[in-house]
Amino acid sequence: MGMVGEFPGLASLRRRVVRAPVNPLDKSTVVSIYPRRIDEVKHTIQPGRFIVEPGSYDKPSILVVGPSSWWREIDEEQPLLEIPVSSIQIAESIVRDYSNGLLACNMGDSMPGLFFLPGAVSLEMIKKDFKSMLDAALVKQRKWFAELVRIGDILWARSNGNPWSISELTRLAAQELNIKDKDWLKDFTTIEKVRCKACGAMRDPNYPVCQVCKNIDDPEMAKKMNLSFAS
Ligand SMILES: [Zn+2]
Repeated sequence: MGMVGEFPGLASLRRRVVRAPVNPLDKSTVVSIYPRRIDEVKHTIQPGRFIVEPGSYDKPSILVVGPSSWWREIDEEQPLLEIPVSSIQIAESIVRDYSNGLLACNMGDSMPGLFFLPGAVSLEMIKKDFKSMLDAALVKQRKWFAELVRIGDILWARSNGNPWSISELTRLAAQELNIKDKDWLKDFTTIEKVRCKACGAMRDPNYPVCQVCKNIDDPEMAKKMNLSFAS
């Protein structure tokens, strides 16, 4: 039974295409110890949506993929030519396309904890026969997380403590590394920062003086707190 779909690239053609039967033995497995859900959509191939649930070192998540296809037009008359893409290429591209371009990811020793294996591999087999790959993924992912945290510190300092300078991914990285002592990890939903009128840095509205430029940004509060300042 082939899968029915549309050639996705050229909407004007709207030609329906039928996939040739796929090789049931062509399977590959994407393995994830990455704590986020991956939802990769590739518009040029079919099937073209790949979801890898969040995983961890103790409980990796797996996605078994088969081959996909894309279609090449020969001319107006002939049916589109189906070009199969093997499962291992699909698995490789899921890992690469998701990871590539992420901040501080080098696709080598600093990257999300993702890898792929030929064949449909069960979780039990991965834990037993591919433990070294799980270990390697953990090392790479931890190194990447540490790098994200290091960059987070830099962005935090450069932006004078602007909570918007820290991405959700960086917060996740700190959480995964069990780092808790960062100023940028504070709950900014409860401390809404305000901008210093003198220098533009973000400051805690519970204190009248800007930490960065020492401007008395809230003279009313300073008076109330009975603070005196050397001029
Ligand atoms: Zn200031």
